Amino acid sequence: MSDRIQQLNTRLSNQIAAGEVVERPASVVKELIENCLDAQATKIHIDLAAGGTKLIRLRDNGLGIHRDDLSLALSRHATSKICQVEDLDAVITLGFRGEALASLASVARLSLTSNVTDKVESGWRIEVSGIEMVPEITPAPHPKGSTVEVRDLFFNTPARRKFLKTDKTELNRIEDVVRKISLSHPAVEIILQHNGKAIRQYKAVMNDADSERRIASVFGKVFLENCLYMTEGSSSDHGLSIRGWIGLPTYTRSQADQQYFYVNGRMVRDKLISHAVKQGYRDVMYHGRHAAFALFLSLDPKGVDVNVHPTKAEVRFRESRQVHDFLFRSIHRALADVRPEQTTANQVAVGPDEIALHKMNVPDDAQPVQSNLGFQPTSRATGGLSFAMKQHLAPTAINQQAALYGALMQSGQPPDAHQANTVEGRIGESVAGRADQSVAENGLIQAGANQDDETIPPLGYAVAQIHGVYIIAQNANGMIIVDMHAAHERIIYEGMKCSSDAEGIKTQPLLVPVSMALSEQECAAVEDFQEELKALGLDLQRASSESIMVRAIPVILNHTQCEPLIRDVLADFIEYGSSARVMQHRDEILATMACHGSVRANRQLSIVEMNALLRDMENTERSGQCNHGRPTWTEQSIADLDRLFLRGR
Ligand code: ADP
Ligand code: MG
Repeated sequence: MSDRIQQLNTRLSNQIAAGEVVERPASVVKELIENCLDAQATKIHIDLAAGGTKLIRLRDNGLGIHRDDLSLALSRHATSKICQVEDLDAVITLGFRGEALASLASVARLSLTSNVTDKVESGWRIEVSGIEMVPEITPAPHPKGSTVEVRDLFFNTPARRKFLKTDKTELNRIEDVVRKISLSHPAVEIILQHNGKAIRQYKAVMNDADSERRIASVFGKVFLENCLYMTEGSSSDHGLSIRGWIGLPTYTRSQADQQYFYVNGRMVRDKLISHAVKQGYRDVMYHGRHAAFALFLSLDPKGVDVNVHPTKAEVRFRESRQVHDFLFRSIHRALADVRPEQTTANQVAVGPDEIALHKMNVPDDAQPVQSNLGFQPTSRATGGLSFAMKQHLAPTAINQQAALYGALMQSGQPPDAHQANTVEGRIGESVAGRADQSVAENGLIQAGANQDDETIPPLGYAVAQIHGVYIIAQNANGMIIVDMHAAHERIIYEGMKCSSDAEGIKTQPLLVPVSMALSEQECAAVEDFQEELKALGLDLQRASSESIMVRAIPVILNHTQCEPLIRDVLADFIEYGSSARVMQHRDEILATMACHGSVRANRQLSIVEMNALLRDMENTERSGQCNHGRPTWTEQSIADLDRLFLRGR
């Protein structure tokens, strides 16, 4: 540090700004594609050399730039996207900071060729090379649109250049950026070339099949076979609406690497959003695994501040609680509807405020120009069925499953015999109550093949039970195999949740209120969220600036569990405005009870009982997975079986 202050020159201050915006070739590509999209281009051609370190060239067919604006385009704080401070409140373009081209021009050799007319000969070019001088503008033929060429990135900033990885790695990152943008702008064709070779082509999406193809090329075909498409019919909440693809709970990843979230077409990462989605999958996701999704949230641009991050990768919601709640509810609802259904019913329940779901039809030609996605052929998946899961589960997870089953088979009476007996009793009743009907159903089985498809329920009718573990059933498509313990466990669990929901959370006042030390911020939250806390069965009262009195707690909790839970609940309220922890706790307890209350493996079931179980599965939310996120049933269609035996070849 010197003892005097001096003004930095333009070039140096641009280079400093470039430190934030231009980290590596992929960030250059991101900024340049965003410019093309803002200029309403429908076709973007990207040429790269040496992973983008030698050359990045983008050609678009957008609006173009006026000759007299060419040098402005390259200067800092010059933009055509906003003009007054109010515009910042409702940004609808991807760019608005007027920094990208200026920053780039200070760390690379840059040329910009553009034409706003349809006459090829009236194009103009401007060139700069990171060295301060008045750039020259020369005539250059160009069709309507613009071409930006960036050569020798960081040629004048060797320190930055050292941070670049191999060409291959940089290329991968560029491909990743292009992939992400391609999902949010399906109507735009994007062609990617590297060292003169076409490596990827995203054709403009014209119909549903095309958009599924785009999803498949990003996520792989297996995802498409194991996902739901969700759209919010009408959005009552603050102009919010959501649509997109979410993986079935049985399609999971070891990393959160297939999670794409867009807000008004802008790819963002956001803690609040990840949390809301995670909450949506609570209860159906195998422990420690991550969901896969591409979700597009739209809301009034006034409801979101995009000016909070230099590369605009983060946003801030004005009504973050509503957004969190809306997302959580939408996903939770969509997943609850995953249950065996008639395969003829492709589209379900599109009402106001309803989530419309349908199983995806998989296009067969979902191939990138040069596939590096390694599509795996899998059987057709229906309902909660997933062969993919077996492939995606880590060996440790499979061992855990085995251990769990082992323990279940050995364990005797449930710990809370009274509770479990009630549950057994209830299920027993439901089985008995349906005995007559099921006998009739048995009659149908004997009637056999000449039955009309429509009268056969999705999971069909039981034929046999094998090894005391699996039920084999026949439906219109082929064969169904059910893990009876897993399925029954989910049915009991959902039933217990329903009755517990109906009763609400019961509260138990403490004989002697307990004092608890908290931070000032936590104490303030106790006051702010009184109502919400009461709804969770927590009666807390502020006692001093840094302590509270606990006066009542939910019946399901014992006193020792309470302190850490209250801390976590308050942290949730402070961060997200809501907390699902008490419910989560309740669910864990119910799940344990359900696990002990469900039919043991090795118990012989009658055909009547088996059919009753199949019907219960069809009527139970989330019955595609057991409480641990494993699939409860699987289908082998006649076609699958034929393939297995090489029939019809
Ligand atoms: P910003 O995108 O934030 O406005 P940039 O530095 O990225 O800032 O671009 C500066 C300006 O140059 C833009 O506002 C736009 O008017 C113009 N521009 C840049 N790229 C293009 C393009 N591909 N087509 C048309 N105009 C462009
Ligand atoms: Mg820009």
